[in-house]
Amino acid sequence: MYDVAVVEDEDLARKAIALSLRGAGYRVHEASDALACRALLRQTRLDVVVLDLGLPGVDGLSFARELRDQSDIGLIIVTRRSDPEGRIAALDLGADDYLVKPVHYGELAARIRSVMRRAGRDRRRRKVLGQWIVDLDARTVSRGGESARLTRGEFDILARLMQADAKIVSRQELLSVISRSPLDADLRSVDVLVSRLRRKLDHLDGDSLIATAPGFGYRLVAAPAEP
Ligand code: CA
Repeated sequence: MYDVAVVEDEDLARKAIALSLRGAGYRVHEASDALACRALLRQTRLDVVVLDLGLPGVDGLSFARELRDQSDIGLIIVTRRSDPEGRIAALDLGADDYLVKPVHYGELAARIRSVMRRAGRDRRRRKVLGQWIVDLDARTVSRGGESARLTRGEFDILARLMQADAKIVSRQELLSVISRSPLDADLRSVDVLVSRLRRKLDHLDGDSLIATAPGFGYRLVAAPAEP
C-alpha cells in the first residue's frame, strides 16, 4: 500500500482530499504545514507528497525545493495559480505533477497512480535496508526526507555488503572494493569505514545494521528487501 501525505493548512480542504484518497486505497497522512510534514517524513516512508503551495510558515515553494533536494519522493503540487508561470515554477522545482485548485479528486488519484507507475519503472534498483532506502543507481541512502551523506568508500562497502545479502563478506574482499592501489591496502581502513557507516545509519538506541564476524569480516544483519 502506498503512503501519501497531504500537506494543506485549510482543514476542510485537507480532510476532503484525504478522505477521497483513502477511498482510492491509499494510506493517507495529514499535515497542516511544512513542519508537520517534516515530522511525518521522519516517521514514515512516504511515497508521494501532495503539497499545497499556499502554506503558513515555511512557504510551499521552498518546502517543495527542500523535498526535492533531499529525496526522490513523488511530489504533486496543488496551487490556486493557474497561469503558465506558476506551473512552470512548480515543474522547474522538480514536481512530478501539478494540479490547480479546486482539486478534482478523481484526477488527483489518477495523477498519483501515474507518478507511482513512473517511480516503479525508475526505482528498480532500490532496496530497503532497515529504515533506509538505498538507491544503487543514484548512490543515495535516504529515510523520508532525510538523507545519509556517505562518502564513495562508505557507499561502496555498503553496496558490496548488500550484494551479499546477509552473508559474510571478508575484510579482504571489502578492501578490494575500496582501494585503488595496493599502496592503500590496509585492512583497518575497512574497519574505519564500517564504523562510520554504523554511525551514519544506525539508531543510537537500536541494533546495528552491520554485524561483525570477528577476525573475518562483516555482514548485514538482515538481507535488503524489495521496496
Ligand atoms: Ca493552503
